[in-house]
Amino acid sequence: MPKLVELTLSQIIAGLQKGDFSSSELTQAFLARIDRLESQLHAYITLTPDLALAQAEHADQQFAAWRVDSNVPLPPLSGVPIAVKDVLCVAGVRCTCGSKILEDFVPPYNATSVERLLESGMVILGKTNTDEFAMGSSTENSAFGTTHNPWDIRRVPGGSSGGSAAAVAACLAPVALGTDTGGSVRQPASFCGVTGIKPTYGRVSRYGLIAFGSSLDVVGVLGHDVVDAAYIYKLIAGHDQLDSTSADRPIPDFELLDSSRGSLSGFRIGVPDEYFIPGMQPEVETAVREALREFENLGAEVMPVSLSHTEHALPVYYLIAPAEASANLARYDGIRYGPRVQSDRMWDIYSRTRGDKFGSEVKRRIMLGTYALSTGYYDAYYGQAQKVRTLIKNDFDQAFENVDLIAAPVTPTTAFFIGEHLDDPLAMYLEDALTIPASLAGVPAISFPVGFDKQGLPIGMQLMGPQFGEEILFQTTHTFQLATNWHLSKPKL
Ligand code: GLN
Repeated sequence: MPKLVELTLSQIIAGLQKGDFSSSELTQAFLARIDRLESQLHAYITLTPDLALAQAEHADQQFAAWRVDSNVPLPPLSGVPIAVKDVLCVAGVRCTCGSKILEDFVPPYNATSVERLLESGMVILGKTNTDEFAMGSSTENSAFGTTHNPWDIRRVPGGSSGGSAAAVAACLAPVALGTDTGGSVRQPASFCGVTGIKPTYGRVSRYGLIAFGSSLDVVGVLGHDVVDAAYIYKLIAGHDQLDSTSADRPIPDFELLDSSRGSLSGFRIGVPDEYFIPGMQPEVETAVREALREFENLGAEVMPVSLSHTEHALPVYYLIAPAEASANLARYDGIRYGPRVQSDRMWDIYSRTRGDKFGSEVKRRIMLGTYALSTGYYDAYYGQAQKVRTLIKNDFDQAFENVDLIAAPVTPTTAFFIGEHLDDPLAMYLEDALTIPASLAGVPAISFPVGFDKQGLPIGMQLMGPQFGEEILFQTTHTFQLATNWHLSKPKL
Protein backbone atom coordinates (compact mmCIF):
# COMPACT_ATOMS: atom_id res chain seq x y z
CA MET A 1 0.00 0.00 0.00
CA PRO A 2 1.55 3.36 -0.99
CA LYS A 3 1.75 6.14 1.60
CA LEU A 4 -1.43 8.23 1.98
CA VAL A 5 0.20 11.27 0.39
CA GLU A 6 1.19 9.25 -2.68
CA LEU A 7 -2.30 8.04 -3.52
CA THR A 8 -3.99 9.13 -6.73
CA LEU A 9 -7.38 10.76 -6.57
CA SER A 10 -9.13 7.56 -7.61
CA GLN A 11 -7.35 5.66 -4.81
CA ILE A 12 -8.25 8.38 -2.31
CA ILE A 13 -11.92 8.33 -3.28
CA ALA A 14 -12.03 4.54 -2.98
CA GLY A 15 -10.10 4.54 0.33
CA LEU A 16 -12.36 7.15 1.91
CA GLN A 17 -15.49 5.30 0.83
CA LYS A 18 -14.25 1.97 2.14
CA GLY A 19 -13.20 3.64 5.38
CA ASP A 20 -9.52 2.64 5.00
CA PHE A 21 -8.67 6.11 6.31
CA SER A 22 -10.60 9.25 7.23
CA SER A 23 -10.41 12.61 5.54
CA SER A 24 -8.93 14.04 8.74
CA GLU A 25 -6.12 11.45 8.70
CA LEU A 26 -5.49 12.11 5.05
CA THR A 27 -5.50 15.89 5.47
CA GLN A 28 -3.17 15.63 8.46
CA ALA A 29 -0.81 13.46 6.42
CA PHE A 30 -0.60 16.16 3.74
CA LEU A 31 -0.18 18.94 6.30
CA ALA A 32 2.62 16.98 7.99
CA ARG A 33 4.42 16.47 4.68
CA ILE A 34 3.98 20.14 3.82
CA ASP A 35 5.44 20.99 7.21
CA ARG A 36 8.46 18.82 6.48
CA LEU A 37 9.14 19.94 2.90
CA GLU A 38 7.83 23.49 2.49
CA SER A 39 11.03 25.12 3.70
CA GLN A 40 12.85 23.45 0.78
CA LEU A 41 10.19 23.77 -1.90
CA HIS A 42 8.02 26.79 -1.09
CA ALA A 43 5.12 25.54 -3.21
CA TYR A 44 2.51 27.48 -1.23
CA ILE A 45 2.03 31.19 -0.58
CA THR A 46 -0.72 30.67 2.01
CA LEU A 47 -1.57 27.48 3.88
CA THR A 48 -5.08 26.98 5.23
CA PRO A 49 -4.70 24.18 7.80
CA ASP A 50 -7.61 25.32 9.98
CA LEU A 51 -9.98 25.53 7.03
CA ALA A 52 -8.72 22.18 5.69
CA LEU A 53 -9.13 20.34 8.99
CA ALA A 54 -12.62 21.77 9.50
CA GLN A 55 -13.64 20.72 5.98
CA ALA A 56 -12.12 17.27 6.55
CA GLU A 57 -13.99 16.83 9.79
CA HIS A 58 -17.21 17.85 8.11
CA ALA A 59 -16.58 15.25 5.39
CA ASP A 60 -15.88 12.57 8.01
CA GLN A 61 -19.20 13.35 9.68
CA GLN A 62 -20.94 13.02 6.31
CA PHE A 63 -19.25 9.67 5.73
CA ALA A 64 -20.33 8.49 9.18
CA ALA A 65 -23.95 9.47 8.49
CA TRP A 66 -23.78 7.86 5.05
CA ARG A 67 -22.52 4.60 6.52
CA VAL A 68 -25.56 4.48 8.78
CA ASP A 69 -27.96 5.44 6.00
CA SER A 70 -26.79 5.28 2.40
CA ASN A 71 -29.59 7.66 1.38
CA VAL A 72 -27.70 10.52 3.04
CA PRO A 73 -26.31 12.61 0.18
CA LEU A 74 -22.54 12.39 -0.16
CA PRO A 75 -20.88 14.85 -2.53
CA PRO A 76 -18.65 13.05 -5.08
CA LEU A 77 -15.26 14.21 -3.75
CA SER A 78 -16.07 14.48 -0.07
CA GLY A 79 -12.96 14.82 2.00
CA VAL A 80 -10.48 14.84 -0.92
CA PRO A 81 -7.75 17.49 -0.54
CA ILE A 82 -6.72 19.92 -3.27
CA ALA A 83 -4.45 22.95 -3.64
CA VAL A 84 -5.53 26.12 -5.47
CA LYS A 85 -3.30 28.51 -7.41
CA ASP A 86 -3.18 31.88 -5.71
CA VAL A 87 -4.91 33.73 -8.54
CA LEU A 88 -8.28 32.06 -7.87
CA CYS A 89 -10.49 33.49 -5.15
CA VAL A 90 -11.36 31.41 -2.11
CA ALA A 91 -13.73 33.36 0.14
CA GLY A 92 -12.05 34.46 3.35
CA VAL A 93 -8.53 33.38 2.29
CA ARG A 94 -6.12 36.03 1.06
CA CYS A 95 -5.48 35.96 -2.67
CA THR A 96 -2.16 37.61 -3.49
CA CYS A 97 -1.60 36.74 -7.16
CA GLY A 98 2.04 36.57 -6.12
CA SER A 99 2.00 40.35 -5.84
CA LYS A 100 2.69 42.86 -3.08
CA ILE A 101 -0.22 44.89 -4.39
CA LEU A 102 -2.68 42.20 -3.30
CA GLU A 103 -0.74 41.10 -0.24
CA ASP A 104 -3.69 41.78 2.06
CA PHE A 105 -6.57 41.17 -0.34
CA VAL A 106 -9.12 38.80 1.16
CA PRO A 107 -11.86 38.09 -1.39
CA PRO A 108 -15.39 37.87 -0.02
CA TYR A 109 -16.47 35.31 -2.62
CA ASN A 110 -15.37 32.09 -4.31
CA ALA A 111 -14.26 31.70 -7.90
CA THR A 112 -16.81 29.52 -9.70
CA SER A 113 -14.22 26.75 -10.15
CA VAL A 114 -13.49 26.86 -6.41
CA GLU A 115 -17.20 26.96 -5.59
CA ARG A 116 -17.65 23.76 -7.59
CA LEU A 117 -14.81 22.04 -5.72
CA LEU A 118 -16.39 23.03 -2.42
CA GLU A 119 -19.84 21.84 -3.52
CA SER A 120 -18.19 18.51 -4.35
CA GLY A 121 -16.91 18.27 -0.78
CA MET A 122 -13.22 18.97 -1.39
CA VAL A 123 -10.75 20.11 1.26
CA ILE A 124 -8.58 23.13 0.46
CA LEU A 125 -4.99 22.77 1.70
CA GLY A 126 -3.79 26.20 0.62
CA LYS A 127 -2.97 28.67 -2.15
CA THR A 128 -0.02 27.82 -4.34
CA ASN A 129 2.80 30.04 -5.50
CA THR A 130 2.68 31.79 -8.85
CA ASP A 131 4.58 34.35 -10.87
CA GLU A 132 3.13 37.79 -10.14
CA PHE A 133 -0.29 37.95 -11.84
CA ALA A 134 0.71 34.69 -13.62
CA MET A 135 3.29 36.54 -15.73
CA GLY A 136 6.27 34.27 -16.04
CA SER A 137 7.59 30.78 -16.67
CA SER A 138 9.48 29.99 -13.48
CA THR A 139 7.70 31.43 -10.36
CA GLU A 140 10.76 33.65 -9.97
CA ASN A 141 8.48 36.64 -10.53
CA SER A 142 6.52 35.87 -7.36
CA ALA A 143 6.83 38.62 -4.75
CA PHE A 144 6.89 35.88 -2.10
CA GLY A 145 9.95 33.92 -3.24
CA THR A 146 10.62 31.22 -5.82
CA THR A 147 9.25 27.69 -5.74
CA HIS A 148 11.90 24.98 -6.13
CA ASN A 149 11.60 22.02 -8.46
CA PRO A 150 11.13 18.81 -6.43
CA TRP A 151 13.34 16.88 -8.89
CA ASP A 152 16.28 19.23 -8.28
CA ILE A 153 15.78 22.06 -5.85
CA ARG A 154 18.39 24.21 -7.60
CA ARG A 155 16.02 24.45 -10.54
CA VAL A 156 12.73 26.21 -11.27
CA PRO A 157 9.44 24.28 -11.31
CA GLY A 158 8.27 26.24 -14.35
CA GLY A 159 5.51 28.79 -14.18
CA SER A 160 3.36 30.43 -13.64
CA SER A 161 1.50 27.54 -11.94
CA GLY A 162 4.86 26.35 -10.57
CA GLY A 163 3.57 26.08 -7.01
CA SER A 164 0.71 23.82 -8.10
CA ALA A 165 3.02 21.61 -10.20
CA ALA A 166 5.64 21.32 -7.45
CA ALA A 167 2.94 20.60 -4.84
CA VAL A 168 1.56 17.68 -6.86
CA ALA A 169 5.00 16.33 -7.85
CA ALA A 170 6.21 16.43 -4.23
CA CYS A 171 2.94 14.96 -2.89
CA LEU A 172 2.11 18.12 -0.97
CA ALA A 173 -1.36 17.87 -2.55
CA PRO A 174 -2.90 15.06 -4.59
CA VAL A 175 -4.17 17.46 -7.24
CA ALA A 176 -4.18 21.23 -7.84
CA LEU A 177 -5.89 23.96 -9.81
CA GLY A 178 -3.70 26.07 -12.06
CA THR A 179 -4.31 28.60 -14.80
CA ASP A 180 -2.93 28.78 -18.31
CA THR A 181 -2.74 31.95 -20.38
CA GLY A 182 0.19 30.99 -22.58
CA GLY A 183 1.39 27.72 -21.09
CA SER A 184 1.22 28.13 -17.33
CA VAL A 185 -0.35 24.74 -16.64
CA ARG A 186 1.48 22.76 -19.32
CA GLN A 187 5.03 24.05 -18.91
CA PRO A 188 5.24 23.54 -15.12
CA ALA A 189 3.53 20.15 -15.50
CA SER A 190 6.29 19.25 -17.94
CA PHE A 191 9.11 20.57 -15.70
CA CYS A 192 7.75 18.72 -12.65
CA GLY A 193 6.72 15.43 -14.32
CA VAL A 194 2.98 15.68 -13.70
CA THR A 195 -0.09 15.72 -15.97
CA GLY A 196 -1.75 19.07 -16.69
CA ILE A 197 -4.80 19.99 -18.75
CA LYS A 198 -5.45 23.40 -20.27
CA PRO A 199 -9.10 23.21 -21.34
CA THR A 200 -10.64 24.98 -24.33
CA TYR A 201 -10.99 28.74 -23.78
CA GLY A 202 -14.45 29.25 -22.28
CA ARG A 203 -14.89 25.67 -21.06
CA VAL A 204 -14.27 26.64 -17.43
CA SER A 205 -15.66 29.82 -15.90
CA ARG A 206 -13.18 32.63 -15.29
CA TYR A 207 -15.37 34.18 -12.60
CA GLY A 208 -13.15 34.77 -9.59
CA LEU A 209 -9.97 34.17 -11.54
CA ILE A 210 -8.01 37.41 -11.24
CA ALA A 211 -7.59 38.42 -14.86
CA PHE A 212 -4.28 38.56 -16.72
CA GLY A 213 -5.11 38.25 -20.44
CA SER A 214 -8.88 37.93 -20.62
CA SER A 215 -9.05 36.47 -24.13
CA LEU A 216 -6.51 33.78 -23.17
CA ASP A 217 -6.95 32.91 -19.48
CA VAL A 218 -8.16 29.38 -18.75
CA VAL A 219 -8.46 27.50 -15.45
CA GLY A 220 -6.79 24.09 -15.63
CA VAL A 221 -5.82 21.11 -13.47
CA LEU A 222 -2.54 19.41 -12.51
CA GLY A 223 -2.51 15.85 -11.18
CA HIS A 224 -0.48 12.66 -10.89
CA ASP A 225 -2.16 11.22 -13.97
CA VAL A 226 -4.80 12.00 -16.56
CA VAL A 227 -7.58 10.21 -14.68
CA ASP A 228 -7.12 12.59 -11.76
CA ALA A 229 -6.91 15.66 -13.97
CA ALA A 230 -10.04 14.60 -15.86
CA TYR A 231 -11.92 14.06 -12.60
CA ILE A 232 -11.42 17.66 -11.49
CA TYR A 233 -11.92 18.99 -15.01
CA LYS A 234 -15.39 17.41 -15.09
CA LEU A 235 -16.28 19.14 -11.84
CA ILE A 236 -15.17 22.63 -12.83
CA ALA A 237 -16.11 22.67 -16.52
CA GLY A 238 -19.41 24.01 -17.79
CA HIS A 239 -21.39 27.13 -18.34
CA ASP A 240 -21.56 29.85 -15.71
CA GLN A 241 -23.88 32.81 -15.82
CA LEU A 242 -21.26 34.86 -14.04
CA ASP A 243 -18.85 34.58 -16.99
CA SER A 244 -20.34 35.60 -20.31
CA THR A 245 -17.41 34.03 -22.19
CA SER A 246 -18.05 30.62 -20.65
CA ALA A 247 -19.40 28.22 -23.23
CA ASP A 248 -22.99 27.14 -22.97
CA ARG A 249 -22.60 23.63 -24.28
CA PRO A 250 -22.91 20.32 -22.46
CA ILE A 251 -19.90 18.43 -21.19
CA PRO A 252 -19.86 14.92 -22.60
CA ASP A 253 -20.27 12.43 -19.79
CA PHE A 254 -17.17 10.39 -20.60
CA GLU A 255 -15.48 7.79 -18.46
CA LEU A 256 -11.85 6.86 -18.80
CA LEU A 257 -12.03 3.13 -18.99
CA ASP A 258 -9.08 0.85 -18.51
CA SER A 259 -10.63 -1.32 -21.19
CA SER A 260 -9.52 1.33 -23.68
CA ARG A 261 -6.04 -0.23 -23.39
CA GLY A 262 -4.42 -0.54 -26.77
CA SER A 263 -7.39 0.82 -28.61
CA LEU A 264 -6.02 3.84 -30.42
CA SER A 265 -6.64 2.43 -33.85
CA GLY A 266 -8.42 4.95 -36.00
CA PHE A 267 -6.80 7.92 -34.19
CA ARG A 268 -4.73 10.17 -36.40
CA ILE A 269 -2.04 12.18 -34.65
CA GLY A 270 -0.43 15.05 -36.55
CA VAL A 271 3.14 16.12 -35.81
CA PRO A 272 4.06 19.67 -36.83
CA ASP A 273 7.67 20.11 -37.93
CA GLU A 274 7.46 23.74 -36.82
CA TYR A 275 7.51 22.65 -33.16
CA PHE A 276 10.93 21.03 -33.34
CA ILE A 277 12.71 24.34 -33.17
CA PRO A 278 16.45 25.08 -33.42
CA GLY A 279 18.14 25.00 -30.03
CA MET A 280 15.80 22.37 -28.65
CA GLN A 281 17.48 20.06 -26.15
CA PRO A 282 18.07 16.85 -28.16
CA GLU A 283 16.79 14.61 -25.35
CA VAL A 284 13.43 16.40 -25.48
CA GLU A 285 13.00 15.64 -29.16
CA THR A 286 14.14 12.02 -28.68
CA ALA A 287 11.71 11.39 -25.83
CA VAL A 288 8.79 12.91 -27.74
CA ARG A 289 9.59 10.88 -30.88
CA GLU A 290 9.80 7.72 -28.79
CA ALA A 291 6.43 8.49 -27.21
CA LEU A 292 5.03 8.91 -30.72
CA ARG A 293 6.29 5.41 -31.58
CA GLU A 294 4.47 4.16 -28.49
CA PHE A 295 1.29 5.83 -29.77
CA GLU A 296 1.83 3.99 -33.06
CA ASN A 297 2.28 0.71 -31.20
CA LEU A 298 -1.04 1.43 -29.53
CA GLY A 299 -2.69 1.67 -32.92
CA ALA A 300 -2.65 5.39 -33.71
CA GLU A 301 -1.59 6.68 -37.08
CA VAL A 302 1.13 9.34 -36.85
CA MET A 303 1.50 11.76 -39.75
CA PRO A 304 3.03 15.16 -40.47
CA VAL A 305 0.89 18.31 -40.33
CA SER A 306 1.85 21.90 -40.90
CA LEU A 307 1.04 24.81 -38.60
CA SER A 308 2.80 27.32 -40.76
CA HIS A 309 2.29 30.47 -38.70
CA THR A 310 3.77 28.95 -35.53
CA GLU A 311 6.84 31.19 -35.52
CA HIS A 312 4.63 34.29 -35.25
CA ALA A 313 2.82 33.03 -32.16
CA LEU A 314 5.36 34.32 -29.66
CA PRO A 315 5.43 37.96 -30.86
CA VAL A 316 1.64 37.94 -31.27
CA TYR A 317 1.19 36.69 -27.71
CA TYR A 318 3.61 39.25 -26.32
CA LEU A 319 1.48 42.00 -27.83
CA ILE A 320 -1.97 40.66 -27.00
CA ALA A 321 -1.29 39.37 -23.48
CA PRO A 322 0.47 42.55 -22.23
CA ALA A 323 -2.17 44.74 -23.91
CA GLU A 324 -4.95 42.93 -22.07
CA ALA A 325 -2.88 42.86 -18.88
CA SER A 326 -2.31 46.61 -18.98
CA ALA A 327 -6.08 47.14 -19.07
CA ASN A 328 -6.82 44.48 -16.44
CA LEU A 329 -4.19 45.75 -14.02
CA ALA A 330 -5.30 49.39 -14.17
CA ARG A 331 -7.57 48.79 -11.17
CA TYR A 332 -4.63 48.21 -8.80
CA ASP A 333 -3.87 51.80 -7.94
CA GLY A 334 -4.27 52.08 -4.18
CA ILE A 335 -7.68 53.66 -4.65
CA ARG A 336 -9.81 50.89 -6.04
CA TYR A 337 -7.57 47.97 -5.04
CA GLY A 338 -4.33 47.63 -3.17
CA PRO A 339 -2.64 49.33 -0.24
CA ARG A 340 -2.29 53.08 -0.78
CA VAL A 341 1.00 54.91 -0.56
CA GLN A 342 -0.07 58.10 1.22
CA SER A 343 0.43 61.47 -0.43
CA ASP A 344 -1.60 64.66 -0.79
CA ARG A 345 -1.04 64.64 -4.55
CA MET A 346 -3.27 62.33 -6.54
CA TRP A 347 -0.73 61.42 -9.23
CA ASP A 348 1.74 60.66 -6.56
CA ILE A 349 -0.64 58.13 -5.02
CA TYR A 350 -1.06 56.38 -8.37
CA SER A 351 2.54 56.34 -9.40
CA ARG A 352 4.09 55.54 -6.03
CA THR A 353 1.55 52.82 -5.22
CA ARG A 354 2.04 51.12 -8.57
CA GLY A 355 5.76 51.85 -8.62
CA ASP A 356 6.35 50.34 -5.18
CA LYS A 357 3.99 47.41 -5.29
CA PHE A 358 4.35 45.91 -8.77
CA GLY A 359 7.40 43.82 -9.64
CA SER A 360 9.57 44.54 -12.68
CA GLU A 361 8.05 41.94 -15.04
CA VAL A 362 4.54 43.23 -14.40
CA LYS A 363 5.71 46.80 -14.98
CA ARG A 364 7.43 45.76 -18.21
CA ARG A 365 4.20 44.20 -19.48
CA ILE A 366 2.04 47.14 -18.43
CA MET A 367 4.35 49.47 -20.36
CA LEU A 368 4.50 47.21 -23.42
CA GLY A 369 0.74 46.76 -23.37
CA THR A 370 -0.10 50.41 -22.83
CA TYR A 371 2.18 51.33 -25.70
CA ALA A 372 0.63 48.74 -28.02
CA LEU A 373 -2.84 50.09 -27.24
CA SER A 374 -2.02 53.78 -27.52
CA THR A 375 -3.49 56.06 -30.18
CA GLY A 376 -1.57 55.80 -33.40
CA TYR A 377 -0.06 52.42 -32.54
CA TYR A 378 -3.21 50.42 -31.86
CA ASP A 379 -3.72 49.28 -35.46
CA ALA A 380 -0.06 48.67 -36.11
CA TYR A 381 0.45 46.50 -33.02
CA TYR A 382 -2.68 45.22 -31.29
CA GLY A 383 -4.83 45.19 -34.44
CA GLN A 384 -2.13 43.50 -36.50
CA ALA A 385 -1.50 40.92 -33.78
CA GLN A 386 -5.20 40.05 -33.73
CA LYS A 387 -5.11 39.41 -37.48
CA VAL A 388 -2.13 37.09 -37.19
CA ARG A 389 -3.87 35.37 -34.27
CA THR A 390 -6.67 34.49 -36.70
CA LEU A 391 -4.15 32.96 -39.10
CA ILE A 392 -2.76 30.85 -36.27
CA LYS A 393 -6.25 29.69 -35.37
CA ASN A 394 -6.93 28.90 -39.04
CA ASP A 395 -3.80 26.70 -39.11
CA PHE A 396 -5.30 24.59 -36.32
CA ASP A 397 -8.74 24.43 -37.96
CA GLN A 398 -7.17 23.21 -41.20
CA ALA A 399 -4.95 20.67 -39.46
CA PHE A 400 -7.93 19.24 -37.56
CA GLU A 401 -9.64 18.51 -40.86
CA ASN A 402 -7.06 15.76 -41.35
CA VAL A 403 -6.03 14.68 -37.86
CA ASP A 404 -7.73 14.12 -34.50
CA LEU A 405 -4.87 15.41 -32.39
CA ILE A 406 -1.62 17.30 -32.71
CA ALA A 407 1.43 16.13 -30.77
CA ALA A 408 4.49 18.20 -29.88
CA PRO A 409 7.02 18.85 -27.14
CA VAL A 410 5.82 21.20 -24.36
CA THR A 411 9.04 23.12 -23.88
CA PRO A 412 12.32 23.35 -25.76
CA THR A 413 14.29 22.33 -22.65
CA THR A 414 13.84 20.65 -19.30
CA ALA A 415 13.78 22.69 -16.07
CA PHE A 416 16.45 25.39 -15.99
CA PHE A 417 18.42 26.67 -13.02
CA ILE A 418 16.96 29.30 -10.71
CA GLY A 419 18.38 32.62 -11.91
CA GLU A 420 19.43 31.29 -15.32
CA HIS A 421 17.06 33.46 -17.39
CA LEU A 422 16.46 36.27 -14.92
CA ASP A 423 18.53 38.89 -16.75
CA ASP A 424 17.16 37.97 -20.14
CA PRO A 425 13.38 38.33 -20.53
CA LEU A 426 13.56 37.16 -24.14
CA ALA A 427 15.18 33.85 -23.17
CA MET A 428 12.37 33.45 -20.62
CA TYR A 429 9.71 34.24 -23.23
CA LEU A 430 11.20 31.59 -25.56
CA GLU A 431 10.23 28.96 -23.00
CA ASP A 432 6.64 29.54 -24.13
CA ALA A 433 7.18 29.19 -27.87
CA LEU A 434 5.47 25.77 -28.04
CA THR A 435 2.61 26.33 -25.62
CA ILE A 436 1.43 29.74 -26.83
CA PRO A 437 -0.07 28.70 -30.20
CA ALA A 438 -2.78 26.55 -28.56
CA SER A 439 -3.55 29.44 -26.20
CA LEU A 440 -3.98 31.88 -29.08
CA ALA A 441 -6.17 29.39 -30.94
CA GLY A 442 -8.18 28.68 -27.78
CA VAL A 443 -7.86 24.91 -28.25
CA PRO A 444 -7.40 22.42 -25.40
CA ALA A 445 -4.01 20.86 -24.70
CA ILE A 446 -2.65 18.35 -22.23
CA SER A 447 0.90 17.94 -20.98
CA PHE A 448 2.18 14.65 -19.58
CA PRO A 449 5.55 13.04 -18.82
CA VAL A 450 7.27 10.94 -21.50
CA GLY A 451 10.82 10.53 -20.20
CA PHE A 452 13.80 11.96 -18.35
CA ASP A 453 16.95 13.72 -19.51
CA LYS A 454 20.50 12.80 -18.44
CA GLN A 455 20.19 14.95 -15.30
CA GLY A 456 17.10 12.97 -14.29
CA LEU A 457 14.71 15.84 -15.07
CA PRO A 458 11.24 15.09 -16.45
CA ILE A 459 10.42 15.65 -20.12
CA GLY A 460 6.86 16.44 -21.17
CA MET A 461 4.84 16.04 -24.32
CA GLN A 462 1.66 17.86 -25.26
CA LEU A 463 -1.35 16.76 -27.21
CA MET A 464 -3.54 19.52 -28.63
CA GLY A 465 -7.11 18.87 -29.68
CA PRO A 466 -9.88 20.65 -31.54
CA GLN A 467 -12.06 23.07 -29.56
CA PHE A 468 -14.07 21.24 -26.90
CA GLY A 469 -12.14 18.06 -27.74
CA GLU A 470 -10.89 17.47 -24.17
CA GLU A 471 -12.42 14.03 -24.14
CA ILE A 472 -10.17 12.81 -26.97
CA LEU A 473 -7.13 14.24 -25.20
CA PHE A 474 -8.02 12.45 -22.00
CA GLN A 475 -8.78 9.16 -23.71
CA THR A 476 -5.56 9.01 -25.76
CA THR A 477 -3.38 10.13 -22.86
CA HIS A 478 -5.04 7.55 -20.63
CA THR A 479 -4.34 4.79 -23.14
CA PHE A 480 -0.70 5.94 -23.23
CA GLN A 481 -0.43 6.04 -19.43
CA LEU A 482 -1.91 2.56 -19.12
CA ALA A 483 0.90 1.30 -21.36
CA THR A 484 3.79 3.30 -19.86
CA ASN A 485 5.25 4.18 -16.46
CA TRP A 486 6.62 7.70 -16.86
CA HIS A 487 3.80 9.26 -14.85
CA LEU A 488 4.47 6.93 -11.94
CA SER A 489 8.00 8.16 -11.15
CA LYS A 490 8.28 10.39 -8.11
CA PRO A 491 11.14 12.67 -7.01
CA LYS A 492 13.13 11.51 -3.97
CA LEU A 493 12.59 13.95 -1.16
N1 GLN B 1 4.87 32.25 -19.39
C1 GLN B 1 3.85 32.94 -20.10
C2 GLN B 1 3.86 34.39 -19.70
O1 GLN B 1 4.73 34.77 -19.02
C3 GLN B 1 2.53 32.31 -19.86
C4 GLN B 1 1.99 32.66 -18.53
C5 GLN B 1 0.65 32.03 -18.28
O2 GLN B 1 0.21 31.14 -18.98
N2 GLN B 1 -0.01 32.56 -17.28
O3 GLN B 1 3.03 35.14 -20.07
